[in-house]
Amino acid sequence: PVPQIVIVGRPNVGKSSVFNWLAGTKISIVDDQPGITRDRLTHLMSHEDRFFELVDTGGMGFNDADNLTKHIEEQISMAIESADLILFVLDTRTGLLPMDQEVAKRLRLVKVPVICLTNKADDHTFDSAAEDFHRLGFGAPIKVSTLQNRNRGILLNRIIDSL
Ligand code: GDP
Ligand code: MG
Repeated sequence: PVPQIVIVGRPNVGKSSVFNWLAGTKISIVDDQPGITRDRLTHLMSHEDRFFELVDTGGMGFNDADNLTKHIEEQISMAIESADLILFVLDTRTGLLPMDQEVAKRLRLVKVPVICLTNKADDHTFDSAAEDFHRLGFGAPIKVSTLQNRNRGILLNRIIDSL
């Protein structure tokens, strides 16, 4: 079976953007309204002759905080069930929010490797803000920008090294 790389994070951090960026094609819907990804989306890809399947998780439809929490619970349980590796996506521009802490708390119980990505680090001015995510305890975050194509190769190398 092909290793499953599951992309996790609160709404609007850029999970679908990361999925499309890594896949190299626009499969998943990106939107500035949280919760646009309806279902579980997968894409088979390879890097340095290693094959893996990317999984984007998304909105099950929510309006209030309760549903949002439920949505995250579903994402995490899906990730725990099927992932060989988790990409934990965070938003460098908003900084660490309580919802990120909630995701992090659950991911600490997961047995598979977790790679922390600080997305929307569009240029070097965001580097120090990105470092703040270090305190989540998942090691040094990889600063990425799907918009500016920052550190895609570094991320892919880290993925295959962690499998
Ligand atoms: P998801 O809800 O986590 O799947 O997030 P999306 O992929 O739908 O993206 C949410 C918003 O963040 C969209 O408006 C994207 O255009 C924006 N976004 C995604 N990646 C970047 C990035 O690298 N830089 C900036 N500035 N915005 C981004
Ligand atoms: Mg999405």
